[in-house]
Amino acid sequence: MNFKAPPKKSLGQHFLTDRNMIDMIVLAVNPQPGDRLVEIGPGQGAITLPLLRRHGELTAIEFDRDLVVPLSAAAHGVGQLTVIHKDVLQVDFTRMAGEGTLRLVGNLPYNLSSPILFHALDHAAVVRDMHFMLQKEVVDRMAAGPGSKVYGRLSVMLQAYCTVTPLFDVPPAAFRPPPKVDSAVVRLVPHAAGAVGIANPQRFTEVVRSAFGQRRKTLRNALMGVCDSEQMEAAGVRPDARAEQVEVASFIRLANLPVAMPVEP
Ligand code: SAM
Repeated sequence: MNFKAPPKKSLGQHFLTDRNMIDMIVLAVNPQPGDRLVEIGPGQGAITLPLLRRHGELTAIEFDRDLVVPLSAAAHGVGQLTVIHKDVLQVDFTRMAGEGTLRLVGNLPYNLSSPILFHALDHAAVVRDMHFMLQKEVVDRMAAGPGSKVYGRLSVMLQAYCTVTPLFDVPPAAFRPPPKVDSAVVRLVPHAAGAVGIANPQRFTEVVRSAFGQRRKTLRNALMGVCDSEQMEAAGVRPDARAEQVEVASFIRLANLPVAMPVEP
């Protein structure tokens, strides 16, 4: 393989080198005949080539021009690799999926992990599952439940749309260069469209953002101008609770209530 360029910090390049961790990721993904695998940020192919060897076919989205040609060359004779040279945030997964579904995989650039997660959520209807390596601290936040110190906007937004399962931790020594933080692999499985129950995604996003925007305040104060106490009670949510105590299902009920119209003077 002829990857000459040194790792680029600005693109979050920490290449996975630990064979055991790579095998564990491939096992977790467990590709089946007919699956359409899409890898985000294939880098030098640490996960790409083993997946390709196992599955025969893969699409990879890589933003670093310097990696595209050597990666395609490395895949020669291993399987059919399609490398899309693009910022993943500009990729329309719904269009890419056509009539089918996609399985997303990636050791994500940590500086972009939240935007990539939210971008994938926008296309959840065509995503069968996702296996992502992220900072462990982010995975902890994604999977946290009410009452946890790290339960927040990310937990509620992701759990409203997906089942979140942390799989295993990965130490810095598994990468070159090693990142400063621990990492973890997480599986996300989007709920079936009918099971999500969010009537208006924009309203849901607004309610969750406002609630956690001032997480030390009671909901009565944090949601002022977004919902009133009467609506909170109708949704079974105590106005004197704090956002970090409220379950995902309660946020969904709250956001689904009709928006109160201002009273004419
Ligand atoms: N998958 C490789 C591995 O495990 O060794 C590389 C992982 S590295 C943490 C993240 C990869 O994402 C890099 O290859 C980087 O160039 C790529 N990347 C960064 N920003 C990107 C973007 N906006 N769109 C697509 N790929 C991106």
